[in-house]
Amino acid sequence: MHPMKLRSRFAASAGGLAILLVGCAGEESGAAQDTVSEVTAFEGARLILGDGGQPIEDGVLLVADGRLIEVGTRGGVQVPTEAVRIDLTGKTVMPAFVDTHKHLGSARETLTDQLQHLAYYGVGVATSLGQDDGDLAFQIRAETIPDAARFRTAGRGITMSEPGRSEVPYWITTEEEARTAVRELAEREVDLVKIWVDDRNGQYEKMSPELYGAIIDEAHRFGLRVTAHIFALDDAKGLLRAGVDAFAHGIRDQDVDDEVIALFQDHPEVVLVPNMPGRGVAEDLSWLSGTVPPVELQEMQAASRDNPDAQEAFGIQARNLARLNDAGVRIAFGTDGSTPWSHHLEMADMVAAGMTPAEVIVAATRTSAELLQIDEVGTLEPGKSADFLVLDANPLDDITNTRRINAVYLRGAQVDREALGARWMAASSTEEA
Ligand SMILES: [Zn+2]
Repeated sequence: MHPMKLRSRFAASAGGLAILLVGCAGEESGAAQDTVSEVTAFEGARLILGDGGQPIEDGVLLVADGRLIEVGTRGGVQVPTEAVRIDLTGKTVMPAFVDTHKHLGSARETLTDQLQHLAYYGVGVATSLGQDDGDLAFQIRAETIPDAARFRTAGRGITMSEPGRSEVPYWITTEEEARTAVRELAEREVDLVKIWVDDRNGQYEKMSPELYGAIIDEAHRFGLRVTAHIFALDDAKGLLRAGVDAFAHGIRDQDVDDEVIALFQDHPEVVLVPNMPGRGVAEDLSWLSGTVPPVELQEMQAASRDNPDAQEAFGIQARNLARLNDAGVRIAFGTDGSTPWSHHLEMADMVAAGMTPAEVIVAATRTSAELLQIDEVGTLEPGKSADFLVLDANPLDDITNTRRINAVYLRGAQVDREALGARWMAASSTEEA
Protein backbone atom coordinates (compact mmCIF):
# COMPACT_ATOMS: atom_id res chain seq x y z
CA MET A 1 0.00 0.00 0.00
CA HIS A 2 1.17 3.48 -0.72
CA PRO A 3 1.83 5.65 2.35
CA MET A 4 -0.07 8.58 0.82
CA LYS A 5 -3.34 6.74 1.18
CA LEU A 6 -2.91 6.57 4.93
CA ARG A 7 -1.93 10.15 5.28
CA SER A 8 -4.74 11.51 3.16
CA ARG A 9 -7.33 10.06 5.54
CA PHE A 10 -6.15 12.42 8.24
CA ALA A 11 -5.50 15.50 6.18
CA ALA A 12 -9.07 16.57 5.68
CA SER A 13 -10.55 17.18 9.07
CA ALA A 14 -9.00 20.44 10.16
CA GLY A 15 -10.15 23.27 7.97
CA GLY A 16 -13.92 23.09 7.55
CA LEU A 17 -15.96 26.25 7.39
CA ALA A 18 -16.39 27.56 10.86
CA ILE A 19 -20.09 28.14 10.64
CA LEU A 20 -22.40 26.16 12.85
CA LEU A 21 -25.83 26.07 11.42
CA VAL A 22 -28.10 23.63 13.01
CA GLY A 23 -28.14 21.36 16.00
CA CYS A 24 -29.72 17.97 16.25
CA ALA A 25 -32.52 17.63 13.82
CA GLY A 26 -34.54 16.25 16.68
CA GLU A 27 -37.35 13.75 16.69
CA GLU A 28 -38.03 13.12 13.02
CA SER A 29 -34.44 12.58 11.92
CA GLY A 30 -34.64 9.36 10.07
CA ALA A 31 -31.79 10.53 7.86
CA ALA A 32 -28.16 11.12 8.66
CA GLN A 33 -28.83 14.31 10.60
CA ASP A 34 -28.31 13.45 14.23
CA THR A 35 -25.06 15.32 14.52
CA VAL A 36 -24.28 18.98 14.03
CA SER A 37 -24.05 19.72 10.35
CA GLU A 38 -22.44 22.61 8.58
CA VAL A 39 -23.18 22.74 4.88
CA THR A 40 -22.30 25.51 2.47
CA ALA A 41 -23.81 25.73 -1.01
CA PHE A 42 -21.86 27.60 -3.69
CA GLU A 43 -24.44 28.37 -6.35
CA GLY A 44 -24.61 29.64 -9.90
CA ALA A 45 -21.02 29.38 -11.13
CA ARG A 46 -19.67 27.61 -14.19
CA LEU A 47 -17.89 24.54 -12.81
CA ILE A 48 -14.74 23.28 -14.52
CA LEU A 49 -14.32 19.86 -12.96
CA GLY A 50 -10.68 19.22 -13.91
CA ASP A 51 -11.55 16.05 -15.83
CA GLY A 52 -11.38 17.61 -19.30
CA GLY A 53 -15.15 17.26 -19.84
CA GLN A 54 -17.65 19.99 -20.58
CA PRO A 55 -18.04 22.47 -17.72
CA ILE A 56 -21.30 22.53 -15.78
CA GLU A 57 -23.14 25.82 -16.30
CA ASP A 58 -25.15 27.26 -13.39
CA GLY A 59 -23.62 24.69 -11.07
CA VAL A 60 -23.84 23.96 -7.37
CA LEU A 61 -21.13 22.76 -5.01
CA LEU A 62 -22.10 21.50 -1.58
CA VAL A 63 -19.31 21.56 0.98
CA ALA A 64 -19.30 20.11 4.48
CA ASP A 65 -16.42 19.43 6.86
CA GLY A 66 -13.92 20.64 4.28
CA ARG A 67 -15.14 18.19 1.62
CA LEU A 68 -17.22 18.37 -1.50
CA ILE A 69 -20.37 16.41 -0.82
CA GLU A 70 -22.22 17.16 -4.06
CA VAL A 71 -21.28 18.65 -7.42
CA GLY A 72 -23.92 19.27 -10.08
CA THR A 73 -26.42 21.59 -11.71
CA ARG A 74 -28.75 23.91 -9.85
CA GLY A 75 -31.70 21.72 -10.65
CA GLY A 76 -29.84 18.49 -9.90
CA VAL A 77 -28.40 19.17 -6.46
CA GLN A 78 -30.71 19.43 -3.51
CA VAL A 79 -29.51 22.20 -1.22
CA PRO A 80 -30.39 21.48 2.43
CA THR A 81 -32.58 24.20 3.93
CA GLU A 82 -30.05 24.90 6.69
CA ALA A 83 -27.14 25.42 4.27
CA VAL A 84 -25.29 28.70 4.03
CA ARG A 85 -25.72 29.87 0.46
CA ILE A 86 -23.01 31.71 -1.45
CA ASP A 87 -24.06 33.19 -4.78
CA LEU A 88 -21.39 32.81 -7.47
CA THR A 89 -23.47 33.79 -10.48
CA GLY A 90 -21.19 34.88 -13.33
CA LYS A 91 -18.10 33.28 -11.76
CA THR A 92 -16.11 30.24 -12.83
CA VAL A 93 -14.99 27.62 -10.30
CA MET A 94 -12.14 25.19 -10.93
CA PRO A 95 -9.93 22.89 -8.80
CA ALA A 96 -6.91 24.41 -7.05
CA PHE A 97 -3.63 23.89 -8.90
CA VAL A 98 -1.26 21.04 -8.13
CA ASP A 99 2.40 21.92 -8.75
CA THR A 100 4.67 18.86 -8.92
CA HIS A 101 7.96 20.75 -9.17
CA LYS A 102 9.01 23.58 -6.85
CA HIS A 103 12.13 24.43 -4.84
CA LEU A 104 11.18 26.18 -1.63
CA GLY A 105 12.85 27.45 1.54
CA SER A 106 14.48 25.24 4.16
CA ALA A 107 13.46 27.28 7.22
CA ARG A 108 9.97 26.92 8.72
CA GLU A 109 9.08 30.58 8.53
CA THR A 110 10.16 30.98 4.90
CA LEU A 111 8.53 27.77 3.78
CA THR A 112 5.25 28.60 5.53
CA ASP A 113 5.22 32.05 3.97
CA GLN A 114 5.86 30.54 0.52
CA LEU A 115 3.06 28.00 0.92
CA GLN A 116 0.70 30.83 1.87
CA HIS A 117 1.88 32.90 -1.07
CA LEU A 118 1.21 29.94 -3.38
CA ALA A 119 -2.25 29.50 -1.86
CA TYR A 120 -2.97 33.20 -2.49
CA TYR A 121 -2.37 32.50 -6.18
CA GLY A 122 -4.49 29.37 -6.20
CA VAL A 123 -2.07 26.49 -5.56
CA GLY A 124 -3.47 23.69 -3.39
CA VAL A 125 -0.42 21.41 -3.45
CA ALA A 126 3.26 22.33 -3.87
CA THR A 127 5.94 19.67 -4.25
CA SER A 128 9.54 20.29 -3.29
CA LEU A 129 11.65 18.34 -5.74
CA GLY A 130 14.85 17.07 -4.22
CA GLN A 131 16.50 19.74 -2.07
CA ASP A 132 15.10 18.87 1.36
CA ASP A 133 17.56 17.77 4.00
CA GLY A 134 16.63 16.98 7.60
CA ASP A 135 13.19 16.72 9.17
CA LEU A 136 11.46 20.03 8.51
CA ALA A 137 10.01 19.14 5.11
CA PHE A 138 8.49 15.95 6.53
CA GLN A 139 7.08 17.81 9.55
CA ILE A 140 5.50 20.48 7.35
CA ARG A 141 4.10 17.80 5.05
CA ALA A 142 2.24 16.30 8.00
CA GLU A 143 0.74 19.63 9.10
CA THR A 144 -2.33 21.55 8.01
CA ILE A 145 -1.24 25.18 7.89
CA PRO A 146 -4.03 27.79 7.67
CA ASP A 147 -4.16 29.72 4.39
CA ALA A 148 -1.37 27.56 2.93
CA ALA A 149 -0.93 25.05 0.14
CA ARG A 150 -0.33 21.44 1.12
CA PHE A 151 3.30 20.45 0.97
CA ARG A 152 4.83 17.33 -0.58
CA THR A 153 8.48 16.41 -0.83
CA ALA A 154 10.99 14.23 -2.66
CA GLY A 155 13.38 14.69 0.28
CA ARG A 156 16.91 14.47 -1.06
CA GLY A 157 17.17 13.85 -4.78
CA ILE A 158 19.86 11.62 -6.27
CA THR A 159 22.61 12.79 -8.62
CA MET A 160 26.21 12.17 -9.64
CA SER A 161 28.72 14.26 -7.76
CA GLU A 162 28.35 17.88 -8.82
CA PRO A 163 31.03 19.94 -7.07
CA GLY A 164 29.91 23.53 -6.78
CA ARG A 165 26.22 22.68 -6.87
CA SER A 166 23.94 21.82 -3.96
CA GLU A 167 25.23 19.11 -1.63
CA VAL A 168 21.77 18.32 -0.31
CA PRO A 169 21.05 15.56 -2.88
CA TYR A 170 22.73 12.17 -2.61
CA TRP A 171 25.89 12.07 -4.73
CA ILE A 172 26.25 8.50 -5.94
CA THR A 173 28.81 6.63 -8.00
CA THR A 174 27.85 2.97 -7.59
CA GLU A 175 24.70 0.88 -7.87
CA GLU A 176 24.96 -0.01 -4.19
CA GLU A 177 24.99 3.68 -3.23
CA ALA A 178 22.06 4.23 -5.54
CA ARG A 179 20.01 1.48 -3.90
CA THR A 180 20.96 2.58 -0.38
CA ALA A 181 19.81 6.13 -1.15
CA VAL A 182 16.45 4.85 -2.39
CA ARG A 183 15.98 2.69 0.70
CA GLU A 184 16.57 5.71 2.94
CA LEU A 185 14.05 7.70 0.91
CA ALA A 186 11.53 4.87 1.15
CA GLU A 187 11.88 4.90 4.91
CA ARG A 188 10.91 8.57 4.89
CA GLU A 189 7.99 7.86 2.57
CA VAL A 190 8.95 10.52 0.04
CA ASP A 191 6.29 11.48 -2.47
CA LEU A 192 8.59 11.03 -5.47
CA VAL A 193 12.21 10.04 -6.06
CA LYS A 194 13.99 12.81 -7.97
CA ILE A 195 17.04 12.11 -10.11
CA TRP A 196 19.18 14.36 -12.26
CA VAL A 197 20.42 12.98 -15.58
CA ASP A 198 22.33 15.93 -17.03
CA ASP A 199 26.03 16.66 -17.52
CA ARG A 200 25.29 20.40 -17.20
CA ASN A 201 26.95 21.34 -20.47
CA GLY A 202 29.80 18.86 -20.10
CA GLN A 203 30.75 19.95 -16.57
CA TYR A 204 29.98 16.66 -14.84
CA GLU A 205 29.82 12.98 -15.55
CA LYS A 206 26.26 12.11 -16.50
CA MET A 207 24.37 9.45 -14.54
CA SER A 208 24.68 6.17 -16.47
CA PRO A 209 21.80 3.89 -17.47
CA GLU A 210 23.18 1.28 -15.00
CA LEU A 211 22.85 3.74 -12.13
CA TYR A 212 19.45 5.14 -12.98
CA GLY A 213 18.28 1.65 -13.79
CA ALA A 214 19.22 0.59 -10.26
CA ILE A 215 17.43 3.61 -8.76
CA ILE A 216 14.25 2.95 -10.73
CA ASP A 217 14.31 -0.75 -9.90
CA GLU A 218 14.84 -0.16 -6.19
CA ALA A 219 12.20 2.61 -6.07
CA HIS A 220 9.61 0.40 -7.71
CA ARG A 221 10.27 -2.33 -5.16
CA PHE A 222 9.11 0.13 -2.52
CA GLY A 223 6.18 1.44 -4.55
CA LEU A 224 7.88 4.78 -5.18
CA ARG A 225 7.81 6.69 -8.45
CA VAL A 226 10.90 8.20 -10.07
CA THR A 227 10.89 11.56 -11.83
CA ALA A 228 13.90 12.65 -13.85
CA HIS A 229 15.43 16.02 -14.54
CA ILE A 230 16.67 15.73 -18.12
CA PHE A 231 17.95 17.97 -20.86
CA ALA A 232 18.68 15.70 -23.82
CA LEU A 233 16.61 13.55 -26.13
CA ASP A 234 18.93 10.51 -25.80
CA ASP A 235 18.56 10.50 -22.02
CA ALA A 236 14.78 10.64 -22.33
CA LYS A 237 14.97 7.49 -24.46
CA GLY A 238 17.27 5.68 -22.02
CA LEU A 239 15.04 6.57 -19.08
CA LEU A 240 11.89 5.45 -20.88
CA ARG A 241 13.57 2.09 -21.61
CA ALA A 242 14.58 1.84 -17.95
CA GLY A 243 10.99 2.34 -16.75
CA VAL A 244 11.08 5.89 -15.41
CA ASP A 245 7.70 7.18 -14.21
CA ALA A 246 7.92 10.87 -15.03
CA PHE A 247 10.01 13.65 -16.48
CA ALA A 248 10.42 16.86 -14.50
CA HIS A 249 11.36 18.78 -17.65
CA GLY A 250 10.74 18.50 -21.37
CA ILE A 251 13.37 17.57 -23.94
CA ARG A 252 15.41 20.69 -24.46
CA ASP A 253 18.38 20.00 -26.73
CA GLN A 254 16.57 19.27 -29.99
CA ASP A 255 13.24 18.44 -31.56
CA VAL A 256 11.76 15.08 -30.58
CA ASP A 257 11.90 12.22 -33.10
CA ASP A 258 9.65 9.28 -33.98
CA GLU A 259 11.68 6.91 -31.81
CA VAL A 260 11.02 8.81 -28.58
CA ILE A 261 7.36 9.18 -29.46
CA ALA A 262 7.14 5.42 -29.97
CA LEU A 263 8.86 4.88 -26.61
CA PHE A 264 6.35 7.15 -24.89
CA GLN A 265 3.54 5.27 -26.58
CA ASP A 266 5.01 1.96 -25.34
CA HIS A 267 4.93 3.43 -21.82
CA PRO A 268 1.53 5.14 -21.65
CA GLU A 269 1.64 5.64 -17.87
CA VAL A 270 4.70 7.88 -18.05
CA VAL A 271 3.97 11.50 -17.22
CA LEU A 272 5.70 14.49 -18.79
CA VAL A 273 5.98 17.71 -16.82
CA PRO A 274 6.97 20.21 -19.51
CA ASN A 275 8.33 22.92 -17.22
CA MET A 276 8.58 25.46 -20.03
CA PRO A 277 11.25 28.14 -20.16
CA GLY A 278 10.12 31.77 -20.39
CA ARG A 279 8.59 32.69 -23.73
CA GLY A 280 10.82 35.74 -24.13
CA VAL A 281 8.01 38.19 -24.74
CA ALA A 282 7.15 41.36 -22.82
CA GLU A 283 4.20 40.81 -20.50
CA ASP A 284 1.72 42.99 -18.68
CA LEU A 285 2.39 42.29 -14.97
CA SER A 286 -0.32 44.49 -13.50
CA TRP A 287 -2.18 41.39 -12.25
CA LEU A 288 0.51 41.04 -9.53
CA SER A 289 -0.44 44.32 -7.86
CA GLY A 290 -2.14 42.55 -4.93
CA THR A 291 1.15 41.26 -3.51
CA VAL A 292 3.96 43.19 -5.21
CA PRO A 293 4.45 46.81 -4.06
CA PRO A 294 4.30 49.50 -6.80
CA VAL A 295 8.03 50.29 -6.94
CA GLU A 296 9.02 46.65 -7.28
CA LEU A 297 6.30 46.02 -9.81
CA GLN A 298 7.50 48.94 -11.93
CA GLU A 299 11.01 47.48 -11.94
CA MET A 300 9.70 44.04 -12.91
CA GLN A 301 7.59 45.57 -15.65
CA ALA A 302 10.58 47.48 -17.05
CA ALA A 303 12.62 44.24 -17.09
CA SER A 304 9.92 42.33 -18.96
CA ARG A 305 11.10 42.70 -22.57
CA ASP A 306 11.18 40.71 -25.78
CA ASN A 307 14.21 38.38 -25.89
CA PRO A 308 14.96 36.58 -29.20
CA ASP A 309 17.33 33.99 -27.61
CA ALA A 310 14.70 33.00 -25.10
CA GLN A 311 12.13 32.82 -27.89
CA GLU A 312 14.31 30.31 -29.74
CA ALA A 313 14.80 28.07 -26.68
CA PHE A 314 11.07 28.27 -26.06
CA GLY A 315 10.46 27.24 -29.66
CA ILE A 316 12.20 23.85 -29.30
CA GLN A 317 10.30 22.96 -26.15
CA ALA A 318 7.04 24.31 -27.49
CA ARG A 319 7.25 22.15 -30.63
CA ASN A 320 8.19 19.15 -28.49
CA LEU A 321 5.30 19.66 -26.12
CA ALA A 322 2.85 20.07 -28.98
CA ARG A 323 4.05 16.87 -30.69
CA LEU A 324 4.07 14.77 -27.53
CA ASN A 325 0.68 16.10 -26.48
CA ASP A 326 -0.74 15.28 -29.92
CA ALA A 327 0.77 11.79 -29.61
CA GLY A 328 -1.29 11.24 -26.46
CA VAL A 329 1.50 11.51 -23.86
CA ARG A 330 0.19 12.22 -20.35
CA ILE A 331 1.06 15.82 -19.47
CA ALA A 332 1.26 17.06 -15.88
CA PHE A 333 2.39 20.34 -14.40
CA GLY A 334 5.37 21.86 -12.62
CA THR A 335 7.08 25.21 -12.55
CA ASP A 336 10.48 24.83 -10.85
CA GLY A 337 11.89 27.57 -8.60
CA SER A 338 9.97 29.34 -5.84
CA THR A 339 8.04 32.13 -7.60
CA PRO A 340 4.55 32.05 -6.07
CA TRP A 341 2.68 33.02 -9.25
CA SER A 342 4.76 31.17 -11.89
CA HIS A 343 2.03 28.57 -12.47
CA HIS A 344 -0.12 31.21 -14.16
CA LEU A 345 2.74 32.01 -16.57
CA GLU A 346 3.43 28.31 -17.14
CA MET A 347 -0.18 27.61 -18.08
CA ALA A 348 -0.10 30.44 -20.63
CA ASP A 349 3.20 29.08 -21.99
CA MET A 350 1.69 25.62 -22.42
CA VAL A 351 -1.23 27.11 -24.33
CA ALA A 352 1.19 29.16 -26.45
CA ALA A 353 2.93 25.85 -27.26
CA GLY A 354 -0.30 24.47 -28.69
CA MET A 355 -2.23 22.75 -25.90
CA THR A 356 -5.82 23.84 -25.37
CA PRO A 357 -6.76 25.66 -22.15
CA ALA A 358 -8.88 22.63 -21.20
CA GLU A 359 -5.90 20.28 -21.63
CA VAL A 360 -3.64 22.56 -19.62
CA ILE A 361 -6.16 22.76 -16.80
CA VAL A 362 -6.35 18.94 -16.62
CA ALA A 363 -2.53 18.81 -16.56
CA ALA A 364 -2.37 21.34 -13.73
CA THR A 365 -5.05 19.65 -11.65
CA ARG A 366 -6.06 16.00 -12.15
CA THR A 367 -2.97 14.57 -13.86
CA SER A 368 -0.63 16.23 -11.37
CA ALA A 369 -2.66 14.89 -8.45
CA GLU A 370 -2.44 11.44 -10.04
CA LEU A 371 1.33 11.71 -10.43
CA LEU A 372 1.61 12.53 -6.72
CA GLN A 373 -0.99 9.88 -5.85
CA ILE A 374 -3.07 12.33 -3.82
CA ASP A 375 -6.60 11.01 -4.20
CA GLU A 376 -8.39 13.87 -2.48
CA VAL A 377 -7.39 16.73 -4.80
CA GLY A 378 -7.25 17.51 -8.53
CA THR A 379 -10.92 17.42 -9.52
CA LEU A 380 -14.26 18.68 -8.26
CA GLU A 381 -15.97 15.45 -7.21
CA PRO A 382 -17.96 14.36 -4.18
CA GLY A 383 -15.66 13.04 -1.46
CA LYS A 384 -12.67 15.15 -2.45
CA SER A 385 -11.25 17.99 -0.43
CA ALA A 386 -12.95 21.32 -1.18
CA ASP A 387 -9.88 22.89 -2.82
CA PHE A 388 -11.05 25.30 -5.49
CA LEU A 389 -10.73 28.74 -7.01
CA VAL A 390 -13.45 31.22 -7.82
CA LEU A 391 -12.49 33.17 -10.95
CA ASP A 392 -14.01 36.35 -12.37
CA ALA A 393 -13.72 35.04 -15.95
CA ASN A 394 -13.57 31.74 -17.79
CA PRO A 395 -10.05 30.31 -18.34
CA LEU A 396 -11.38 28.01 -21.09
CA ASP A 397 -11.89 31.19 -23.17
CA ASP A 398 -8.49 32.65 -22.28
CA ILE A 399 -6.03 30.83 -20.03
CA THR A 400 -4.81 34.11 -18.53
CA ASN A 401 -8.20 34.31 -16.82
CA THR A 402 -6.72 31.96 -14.17
CA ARG A 403 -5.09 35.17 -12.88
CA ARG A 404 -8.45 36.80 -12.20
CA ILE A 405 -8.90 35.16 -8.84
CA ASN A 406 -11.90 36.20 -6.78
CA ALA A 407 -11.43 33.68 -3.95
CA VAL A 408 -9.46 30.55 -3.06
CA TYR A 409 -10.83 27.76 -0.88
CA LEU A 410 -8.57 25.06 0.54
CA ARG A 411 -10.01 22.20 2.65
CA GLY A 412 -13.31 24.13 2.53
CA ALA A 413 -11.89 27.23 4.20
CA GLN A 414 -11.52 30.51 2.36
CA VAL A 415 -7.92 31.66 2.12
CA ASP A 416 -7.65 35.13 3.64
CA ARG A 417 -6.09 36.71 0.56
CA GLU A 418 -6.68 40.24 1.76
CA ALA A 419 -4.71 39.76 4.97
CA LEU A 420 -1.94 37.89 3.16
CA GLY A 421 -1.64 40.54 0.45
CA ALA A 422 -1.52 43.31 3.05
CA ARG A 423 1.25 41.43 4.90
CA TRP A 424 3.47 41.17 1.81
CA MET A 425 2.88 44.77 0.77
CA ALA A 426 3.78 45.94 4.30
CA ALA A 427 6.82 43.64 4.56
CA SER A 428 8.29 44.96 1.33
CA SER A 429 7.75 48.60 2.21
CA THR A 430 9.64 48.08 5.50
CA GLU A 431 12.52 46.50 3.61
CA GLU A 432 12.69 49.50 1.37
CA ALA A 433 12.57 52.02 4.20
ZN1 LIG B 1 13.84 21.73 -10.40
